[in-house]
Amino acid sequence: KLSKRLQQIADLVSAQARIADIGSDHALLPVYLLQSGKCPSAIAGELNTGPFQAAKRQVAEAGLTKKIEVRQGDGLAVLAPGEADTVTIAGMGGSLMADILEAGRQTGKLEGVRELVLQPNVGEEIVRKWLVQHGYVLQQEMILEEDGRIYEVLHALHEQHSPSAITNEGVYNPSFLEIQSMTEVAKREWLYRMGPYLLRQPNDWLYNKWQHEQGKLDRICRQLGQSDLAESREKEAQLRGEIKGIEEVLSCLQ
Ligand code: SAM
Repeated sequence: KLSKRLQQIADLVSAQARIADIGSDHALLPVYLLQSGKCPSAIAGELNTGPFQAAKRQVAEAGLTKKIEVRQGDGLAVLAPGEADTVTIAGMGGSLMADILEAGRQTGKLEGVRELVLQPNVGEEIVRKWLVQHGYVLQQEMILEEDGRIYEVLHALHEQHSPSAITNEGVYNPSFLEIQSMTEVAKREWLYRMGPYLLRQPNDWLYNKWQHEQGKLDRICRQLGQSDLAESREKEAQLRGEIKGIEEVLSCLQ
């Protein structure tokens, strides 16, 4: 049985897609997708030898060596262009994830990839910005809790495959945030940071995550407050602004 987090990712993958799971570790996701009959074939990519061996073992034990290829390499370098319809990347920081996607794009490895299912551990806004900049349109976002941690899962389709009613312009249209004191540009930044779908349909985990973030920023502010340095003052003012921004966004949601 998959963890709640991996199950959510599996649920978002389109049926019958040829998937590539990058940073697959034990290859739990591809093994599940094959065993459940959702996907016909998969590639599991791993950079590091330990997890690469673990993935090979797991795939062999599941009797799936003919259907899941485990390959060792950096990010999307393990793929040939056109080999995968869907790329999944989970359990790493958003900045590394965007680097992997960008390197893959520049080397043509994303050609033919119509679907991305991504679960960044932190730095989600970096991933959302990369998607917009490269013609992928968010279709759905999930936020969930497991073992005391909160996770976000992003589901994007390439604009050629996105329903015509769903466009980046629409998804990131900030007008639903009714905050008088905030510019449209600032509102859009909060959409990137907090999630355009998550903000339209907020749940307890979203409030939880950002209240926790406010607490963290507040503690940093109080430490900075003990210093006389001009830089500390500046940083404190900036963080106070962020805390206020989060407050304003959360309190305007229905
Ligand atoms: N995707 C699995 C999950 O979500 O449960 C495993 C997540 S694990 C925390 C992150 C994995 O990414 C590690 O096994 C690590 O070796 C791998 N990794 C890190 N950088 C990578 C890269 N540039 N290319 C491929 N794999 C990478």
